[in-house]
Parts: sequence; structure tokens; C-alpha cells
Amino acid sequence: MTADSVLVLMYHRVGEARNAWEARYAIGPSRFADHMDALRAEGYRAIDANALIKWLDGGSAPPQRSFVLTFDDGFRAVKEHALPVLTRLGWPFTVFLVSGLIGQQDLWTRSSNPDGVTYPLLNEQEILDMQQAGVTFQSHTRSHASLPTLDDEQLAAELADSRAELQALLGTSVDLLAYPFGHVDDRVARAAAEAGYRAAFSTQPGFNRQSVDRYRIRRLDVYGTDTPVQLLRKMRLGTNDGSAANLARYYWGRARSRFQGTA
Ligand SMILES: [Zn+2]
Repeated sequence: MTADSVLVLMYHRVGEARNAWEARYAIGPSRFADHMDALRAEGYRAIDANALIKWLDGGSAPPQRSFVLTFDDGFRAVKEHALPVLTRLGWPFTVFLVSGLIGQQDLWTRSSNPDGVTYPLLNEQEILDMQQAGVTFQSHTRSHASLPTLDDEQLAAELADSRAELQALLGTSVDLLAYPFGHVDDRVARAAAEAGYRAAFSTQPGFNRQSVDRYRIRRLDVYGTDTPVQLLRKMRLGTNDGSAANLARYYWGRARSRFQGTA
């Protein structure tokens, strides 16, 4: 059976969280491994982001329960803690890099993290080592700016410079973009296309059908606080709410519409 929709999961840092704010964006290494093992046990299988784009281009659909695994920001801890798990499973994944902050820290979080701390991002050598191991790298802009707030010139530069810098580092074509903070509007989506990106990922949750707007590909936000059971519920429902109550509402709604359909 082939899929009629594909889910994309978004993770950020893999590592321990030091406060409640971080717990949303950072997942402990053992919990991350539990997530992946739970997905495999349920028959899910990661496919490369480019396989998703090929399908959107009109290619054949991937098998049912295929999903795309993405990591935003390019934290060094992804190499340390996620790469070994995903190598063991043989699962491809994509990391969206901030081209102007390679080898530095996630400076854009300093004002929002209550503890004011930042974390190391992958450096060039680490990125090249991971690329050698089969990891795909794409763009998360040049400075992690909120794109709708930029003027046309700044916007074009964020998108084009990032693409050029990453292509120079990686020696491969960089065709995919993840919008920082998920911020996108029509002007930003048009600018992404004009800068040469073939598709872009939002943070709007939901299933991706073949007709999805390729400059607003949906992703589920996986929180560090999600248990494997909550992750599986999110995937079943295509939402960021993995609570048992939300699953119950879903089944209640289905049962009710079935009842009304026969009444
Ligand atoms: Zn980001």
C-alpha cells in the first residue's frame, strides 16, 4: 500500500533540558531513542526529504507510514545523540542549518530562554562528517531571522546567501528551506521560490497530501516532553496535541459522524 499523505516530524536539540521552556525544544537522548524505536515498532519508516519532494513533483507515492524526520537549527547534540540511533535504524534525516552561525551557538534563543543560555551548533567539520554518513543538510536561513519582518532586500539576502554558503560548504545543491520560527507569509513564500528553493517547511501541523502547497509543507512539532505514546497519537491525528483527551475527542467525533451518517 502506498501513502495518501506523509507526515514530517520536527525536532530541535537532542539533550537534557534545564527548564520548562527548553523541555519543549530539547529531548533527552534516551527518550529520543524510545521515540524512534516506538515508531519502528508501529511500522513507521523514515524516508529522505527529497523522496517527499519527488512525490509532490508527481512521482510515485512512498509506502504507507513513511515519514520525514527533520531537525531544525543544526545543534551539535544531534550528531552526538541522534546520529547513532538513526544509523542503527538505517533511517535518513535532514538538518536545517543557520549558515551564518555554523560552529557558533543558537544566539536567537538567548532572550526567550529563561536561563539565558545557548547551546553549540555543528561546525564545518562535523557537518561534513555527518554528510559523509548520509545526513542531508538544507537551509534554515543565514541568521535565523523572522522572515516576514525583513524588507525585500534583506529577505532576498537571507535566503540567497544561506543557499550559496551552504552549497559552497556541502558541494551539493541546497533546495529546501525551513522557515525560522515557522514564520511565513505570501511574500516570504514567493521569495523562497525566487531564491531557488524547490520547497519549504512550515511549523503548521497536519498531514501532507500530494496537493500540499510546497512552500508550506506541514510538520508536527515533537516536544521533549512527549512520551512515545503521545508521539504516536500526534501522528495518528496529525496534530501537535498528543493528549489522551484529544484522541478521545477524535474517536468520539468519528463515532458521532458515523452515527449521524446512518440516521
Ligand atoms: Zn529554528
